[in-house]
Amino acid sequence: MIKQNVARILSELPSGVQLVAAAKTRQPEEILEAVEAGVKIIGENYVQEAERAYEVVRNRAEWHFIGHLQKNKVKKAVRLFDMIESVDSIEIAKEIDKRCAQIGKVMPVLIEINSGREKQKAGVFPENAEQLVKEVSAFPNIRVTGLMTMGPRFGNPEDSRPYFVETRKIFDRMKKLNLPDVEMKYLSMGMTNSYKIALEEGANIVRIGSKIFGERDYSKTT
Ligand SMILES: *Cc1c(COP(=O)(O)O)cnc(C)c1O
Repeated sequence: MIKQNVARILSELPSGVQLVAAAKTRQPEEILEAVEAGVKIIGENYVQEAERAYEVVRNRAEWHFIGHLQKNKVKKAVRLFDMIESVDSIEIAKEIDKRCAQIGKVMPVLIEINSGREKQKAGVFPENAEQLVKEVSAFPNIRVTGLMTMGPRFGNPEDSRPYFVETRKIFDRMKKLNLPDVEMKYLSMGMTNSYKIALEEGANIVRIGSKIFGERDYSKTT
């Protein structure tokens, strides 16, 4: 199933759009199957799960961190991941910069926007995004390369559109600002339920889990 799912999604994505296979709770063998079917980027929410999967998949794909990163996991994360899509505070950026400096790496990051302004959710509020982009881009071992958003969860994907539109506006505005050391290149929006809407609103990275791997069974979480 995974192979067919990947093939269908890839054949339908417009050119220039990158697919991230959101792999939380999946077994390394399932992830490998997705990679063998053409997935180039794996998205992981947990460092420990990623380490397990990496043992099997290695560098046959790139690794994006898409979850909420804790400070005590940064040291491992910067070794494992090729991009961190979910930077939402100066504190976590500072730690990423420090740990990257120790291993001579410059980490590409996306700034996560809390486009729904949901108190309990990760991400910087839209009105504070520009300030955070400026501050994060000043770190020598971090490269800001775009924005990411989740948006509130809805049953009807159309309800996600305003949040994608708002994130796209921030993206366009920052691109125009031409900030030093900022490369506004990637806009990561949309999941299984909403990625078609996200594409219409300008996403060039989509993060898809269930449509590749099937429904998640959280009882299998490591
Ligand atoms: C789980 C997850 C996804 C994918 O969700 P699906 O609905 O399974 O496609 C995308 N992005 C993030 C940050 C996730 O945690």
